[in-house]
Amino acid sequence: PCPGTPAVLGAGVPVPLAAGGTVDYANFDYAASAPCLEAVRDALDEALPLYASVHRGAGHLSQVSTAAYERARRTVAEYTGVGAGDALVFVRGTTDALNLLARCVPDGCTVVVFAAEHHANLLPWEHRGSRAGRVVRLPLPETPGEAVRAAREALRAAPEGPRLLCVTAASNVTGEIWPVRELAEAAHAEGARIAVDAAQYVPHRRFDLKATGADYVAYSGHKLYAPFGAGVLAGRSDWLRAAAPYLAGGGATGNVTEHDVRWNDLPARHEAGSPNVLGAVALAAACTTLREAGQERLHAREEALLRRLRAGLAAIPRVHDLSLWDGRHPRVGIVSFVVDGVPAGLLAAALSAEHGIGVRDGLFCAHPLTRHLLPEGHEQAVRASLGLGTTEEHVDRLVAAVARLAEHGPELEYRDDEGRLVP
Ligand code: PMP
Repeated sequence: PCPGTPAVLGAGVPVPLAAGGTVDYANFDYAASAPCLEAVRDALDEALPLYASVHRGAGHLSQVSTAAYERARRTVAEYTGVGAGDALVFVRGTTDALNLLARCVPDGCTVVVFAAEHHANLLPWEHRGSRAGRVVRLPLPETPGEAVRAAREALRAAPEGPRLLCVTAASNVTGEIWPVRELAEAAHAEGARIAVDAAQYVPHRRFDLKATGADYVAYSGHKLYAPFGAGVLAGRSDWLRAAAPYLAGGGATGNVTEHDVRWNDLPARHEAGSPNVLGAVALAAACTTLREAGQERLHAREEALLRRLRAGLAAIPRVHDLSLWDGRHPRVGIVSFVVDGVPAGLLAAALSAEHGIGVRDGLFCAHPLTRHLLPEGHEQAVRASLGLGTTEEHVDRLVAAVARLAEHGPELEYRDDEGRLVP
């Protein structure tokens, strides 16, 4: 990576090859979970000897931890463009955030969602505990403009009362960037609100609630170069404040008598149980590091790698890159593709064992979208996603490996977890 790019842990780790020997790992699975930044590890090193349960202890370490936790909230809130009248609740991740929001929408709220969503933004609205009254699932839009039109029409056609549009900022299958600002304008013009799943967007570009005009945003720390366990739901306080606490328990309560409970105000209201102070500290350190490194500059570097990868794949016969929209539409560093004649599971297994390359195969928890994009004869796809540790050598190795596998097929046979031969 070029100078000034924040360093990630595990870069250059040797991995075994089936033919013997090792090669440095080419990680193309950043979209699932990104490796931890060195700067995040350093922040955790500092926090680890000093942590204690926050908010409730009188002891010195409890005070230090409480200050660190609330400082982390302010840092993440600033990074996310959280404004006056907004709250930031620490959650476990995007799935948790969107399930929480589904319990906070006003009773009977109409929720409008595209079939392009990750299951985390598709399913919570109709799941147990959701207060949504009606869920309108829109078909996959043929263009970004069509997405805005369809959303506006659906919101307009919905019955009077609260309405929420839920969209992704960047697809976890195609990397395509959704027109969030225009969708926010359309939602607001119809008197509705918009919630944005920014899980795949924030690792590549900063998401700012104020600048985009979005009402809510959700994302996960483990995709943003911090370890697992902490994520964010941020946005307008009123619905969050009026809803019953997400979990009942200590921390969410102001006062409990034998007969009665008075619940706390935000954000503690939705953070029952002992908060994940280290997760919050790690997430804040990731936000600070990315901000200081200049996400614009990092983004330009990633764009160059993405162009190189897409051009390389496009030059290989029988390789199809999956896009919902025009292939030139802006996207974050994610490419899903298939190779005619080589099933995705086999391709992924061979890339790992024969070339030391880690990709993901399957339907990527976005079954309706991925199935729609798959060309005839394919059941699954391979996804390659880029991040701060990706190098030109990794990209060239992936392209060369796919070209070789497309032409000659794998050198070995592979078995799945149950010992069955991968077809
Ligand atoms: N939304 C999108 C777009 C995602 O890519 C993911 C993770 N694959 C999620 C939501 C869910 O995130 P988490 O698993 O951290 O809850």
